[in-house]
Amino acid sequence: MQPNPELVGVSCSLCGSNHHRLLFKKRGNFYKIPFCIVRCMRCGLVFVNPRLSDKAITVLYDDDYFKGEGFDPIARYEAGEANALQKKAEAAAVLRTAELVTGISPPMKLVDVGCGVGNMLEVASNLGYDVLGIDAAAHAVSMARRRGFNAICGKLDEIGIDRKFDVAVMTETVEHLPNPKQVVDAVHRALNPGGWFIILTGNVASLEARLFSSSWEYFKPEGHLSYFSPSTMGLLLRQFSYVRIIPFPREVARAVLRLAGAFRAPGQGSSNKGVFSFLGRHRLASRMLFNLLSSFESAGSALIVLARK
Ligand SMILES: [Zn+2]
Repeated sequence: MQPNPELVGVSCSLCGSNHHRLLFKKRGNFYKIPFCIVRCMRCGLVFVNPRLSDKAITVLYDDDYFKGEGFDPIARYEAGEANALQKKAEAAAVLRTAELVTGISPPMKLVDVGCGVGNMLEVASNLGYDVLGIDAAAHAVSMARRRGFNAICGKLDEIGIDRKFDVAVMTETVEHLPNPKQVVDAVHRALNPGGWFIILTGNVASLEARLFSSSWEYFKPEGHLSYFSPSTMGLLLRQFSYVRIIPFPREVARAVLRLAGAFRAPGQGSSNKGVFSFLGRHRLASRMLFNLLSSFESAGSALIVLARK
């Protein structure tokens, strides 16, 4: 652990403005120093400023991080089967929701940007997608490869990938990125026309975030550098000409999938196949349902955003 990490002052990564106001300070778990969480006065993005330098950030994602011994105690990717099952159930819920709303279905080429140890890769592969994972953390990539998945170590905006994909997934990743615009641009270029980009991240506009303020569990200012809302996520995606952007709370998706019997805890059987097959067959009805539910954007703590190229 470094006692005095290097910090860098940054402009708003969405609009470039240098005008922001301090919301609060919060101490990190790893470097044990206070960080300032600010809100951009022009676009509303909430972000850490000053933040750790790129070099200090790289140190965060060592082997200990994946054991839950780094800046984020709940990132317990090696904590055993129960934890892996939960992560896979979450990954399945995100993907099934996207299938329901967008009509995507395997076989399709899918890239998981920030694939970690490969839970989404396993879920998507089992559903029939042709998957590729990308992650900047070498330890995560080696674990994903050990599980038999094709994974590249690097950053999508730097490695210049020549393949095209029908679906790009980025779960719990965009908040970690020092340069979200560059990565979203790289995803846009990597998608086939009509391809879908699926994002999961915390929702700073949620009731939970507002109630808990600095105690909200998503505020981990060493590694979580930006905190998005439906509004700022829309601003980010519209800069890259996505033609349809659908944000809704993860908890709403869970409720709908639970109703439909598609979101099942590990080992739990499907209880409501009829509703799921109805929604599956009546795509317009499921879209209308999600559009209606998306108006409850402050519900829950996390946000799923679907964007079409
Ligand atoms: Zn801004």
